[in-house]
Amino acid sequence: MYLSRRKFLGLTGAATLVATCSPISLSGQTPRDALSGQCASGMKDLSALVRQRSTMLGYPINLNFPPAEFFKWRERLNTAGLDQFNFNNVGDPFKQGHFSFNTHDLEKDLIERFGAVYGFVQKQVWGFLSNSGTDSNMHGIYIGRTLMQNRTGILPKIYFTHEAHYSIQILCNLMSLDWVVVDTEADGNMDIGDLEQKLNANADYPALIIATVGTTFKGAIDSIDGIQSKLKGRDYYLHLDAALFGGYLPHTPFADELLHSRRTDQSPRYHSIAVSCHKFFGYPSPAGLFITSQDIFEEFEAQFAKIHDPQYILQVPGTITCSRDSVKPAEFHFFSSDSELSRQKSDARQMLDNAGYLHKEMLTHLKHLEPVRTGQRSPIVYFRKPSEEIVDRYTLAVMQSDRNNEATAYAHVVVMPHVSKKTLDRFLEDLSTH
Ligand SMILES: *Cc1c(COP(=O)(O)O)cnc(C)c1O
Repeated sequence: MYLSRRKFLGLTGAATLVATCSPISLSGQTPRDALSGQCASGMKDLSALVRQRSTMLGYPINLNFPPAEFFKWRERLNTAGLDQFNFNNVGDPFKQGHFSFNTHDLEKDLIERFGAVYGFVQKQVWGFLSNSGTDSNMHGIYIGRTLMQNRTGILPKIYFTHEAHYSIQILCNLMSLDWVVVDTEADGNMDIGDLEQKLNANADYPALIIATVGTTFKGAIDSIDGIQSKLKGRDYYLHLDAALFGGYLPHTPFADELLHSRRTDQSPRYHSIAVSCHKFFGYPSPAGLFITSQDIFEEFEAQFAKIHDPQYILQVPGTITCSRDSVKPAEFHFFSSDSELSRQKSDARQMLDNAGYLHKEMLTHLKHLEPVRTGQRSPIVYFRKPSEEIVDRYTLAVMQSDRNNEATAYAHVVVMPHVSKKTLDRFLEDLSTH
């Protein structure tokens, strides 16, 4: 997604194959000889990609290498036998199952640790490590649909804004849900007044609401408390899509944004949350956190058990997907240690500081590009689309957006942890000379 076709083709020529075939260090931090002697023809020049990663500004992917300790942890797991033969995390990580060649212990512990990060009540949390943010959203929507239909006998309508991630529409289609698109305010966050109107217009249906904390393009935040204020007395399920922002917000002064249980009476502000592991955290391949509370899960499981015959694996799996990866939960567990959480804190600060810097500099020197940052919680700055050359050089994402009822092309920069001030300065320089 984040490599243009042209770049991809440009990197697969004969000249680059030579480079690929020489024994190089892929990371510069963790010496590896994996590429030598294994040179498949047509393989991309990975070392060139490694060099280019610092200038990838357009997508919410952290392209830093995880710390050296991560690779040591990976090696320890590998030495212990993981990824050496066929492990499988099929089933519920919170239950003892029949099939034991898994890493359920680490997966459960991981979910409990991140549950604490998001303010779930201790020991009342359930979840698993999914394939991606989309997979986590799928489970949120499926659980919400199941609960609403079971409680009311009616399939819910699903509410989200047009700034929500495109995966939501796919999932609504997959689950045959009627959707209600809620208007947004100028910043791209959900218009709570419009939500209320639409809830009233569909009062005969339970509501399944997707709140996005950090919309993909603009970085807008739907107000959970605002949404909650319109839900009193209604049958509803509220799922939080926090694919990118969910990674770092807990480490900022805005941590309460994602708080699951109110401090006063421990009542929930939302029912489930989805966070991508490859976005802020920079886990080296796609994965996602899905976290909900135990009571919600148990209510779901009681229904799920009716359509899922537990005979074969001797339990209700809890997940839609059956076979699941054992390696990723074990590896991602690394990111839940105290020292990792404090490293995430400094990454979060640097990211938001740099986003503030970019926005300020653009306002001062490139005002004609109309740069917007939705607020201090967002690492995203969007602006009028610059030249194709710049879009290409920095792998910028481009979208049409309405402003003053006119469709205009915008691009955005997502200031991820791998984006340094030096890179931003070069980017600003390029913007002003092109
Ligand atoms: C990236 C993103 C997703 C999809 O997450 P994947 O991990 O890529 O499946 C969903 N929602 C939002 C808001 C996102 O930014």
